[in-house]
Amino acid sequence: MTPIQIKSDALERIKNFKLPESLGFGSVLTPVMIYSDFRDGAWGPLIMAPYADLSINPTMKVLHYAQEIFEGMKGYLSPEGEPLLFRPEMNAKRFNYSARMMAMPEIPEETYLSAVHAITHLSKDLIPTESGSSLYIRPFMFATDISLGIKPSETFRFMAVASPSQSYFKPGDLNVFIERHAVRACPGGVGTAKTGGNYAASLKSATKAATFNCQQTLWLDALEHKYIEEMSGMNFMAIENGKLITPSLTDTILAGITRDSIIKLAPTLGLEVEEKRIEINSLLENCRSTAATEAFACGTAVIIAPITKFVEEDKTEFKTSIPTGDWSMKIRNKLLEIQEGRTSGPQGWSVRVEKTY
Ligand SMILES: *Cc1c(COP(=O)(O)O)cnc(C)c1O
Repeated sequence: MTPIQIKSDALERIKNFKLPESLGFGSVLTPVMIYSDFRDGAWGPLIMAPYADLSINPTMKVLHYAQEIFEGMKGYLSPEGEPLLFRPEMNAKRFNYSARMMAMPEIPEETYLSAVHAITHLSKDLIPTESGSSLYIRPFMFATDISLGIKPSETFRFMAVASPSQSYFKPGDLNVFIERHAVRACPGGVGTAKTGGNYAASLKSATKAATFNCQQTLWLDALEHKYIEEMSGMNFMAIENGKLITPSLTDTILAGITRDSIIKLAPTLGLEVEEKRIEINSLLENCRSTAATEAFACGTAVIIAPITKFVEEDKTEFKTSIPTGDWSMKIRNKLLEIQEGRTSGPQGWSVRVEKTY
């Protein structure tokens, strides 16, 4: 693992930190951060420091041209009190995929993983233990060149911070707005990368969705506005005629690690999986005919959240026949059992956190 320079006051800050009563999601941060700077074509050392504001030059490239990428991961505490990560090397690989998409330098997987292990290990006494809550870990990288010229930056900062968090949605909380006009990602674009701009571009629709009492937008394909793609930060799945269906991956759908894990777990629970193009109108018809029994969102933050209802712009509502989820909750529990180390999953999924500092 990559060596880490640790500032002594970082350890001090962790020791003296008290978790507030109520955590929410992503708003309480552990009092440390880890970073490395890229310049002259190479990554510098990993440095662990007390969490603090950054000093940013007004013409730093990321502020103007959004050359930025991120990841979302979770740390869990096993019943024995050991910190665990879930398939972390998948996030390391996807981080570098996003980097290539955004003309940014890759970071050695080992360095990425050392940083994630270090911040999780250092924050281990701050991992909430209630099932469904966890330490949400946010590695990210941004362009730091100082200049208004539109060209790829030559200097970058990689960082990771960690947030003790409760679950993202309470069950029964997820209404989904069907977005028939705006699009999230175009063929040939950067929709498969976790880059800030994709999320900025989803916010106008999120504001509109909220006026329909919806917490998420369901995006359709850019060319025909006909096929289901995903939500703004999570993938889409449904149970139809007793089968789990999900849109097949294209260059406009982000390849979720939760999605991949569910596709691998479902058959072990006796549920057949089909990846295919899913027409929104046929799914809605199947809601009416009760062939569609469940629909749900999946991603690291939400894990699995059953979709209570779909809402159209003209306010028509569609519900699956089991809007509280049956298979959805079964798969969610199985996945959580593995993530929280209560049962062993496939080889290499649950990884024990090492002290890398
Ligand atoms: C992060 C993300 C997902 C889910 O990916 P996971 O690896 O399961 O967390 C799905 N869609 C989008 C657009 C995302 O940004």
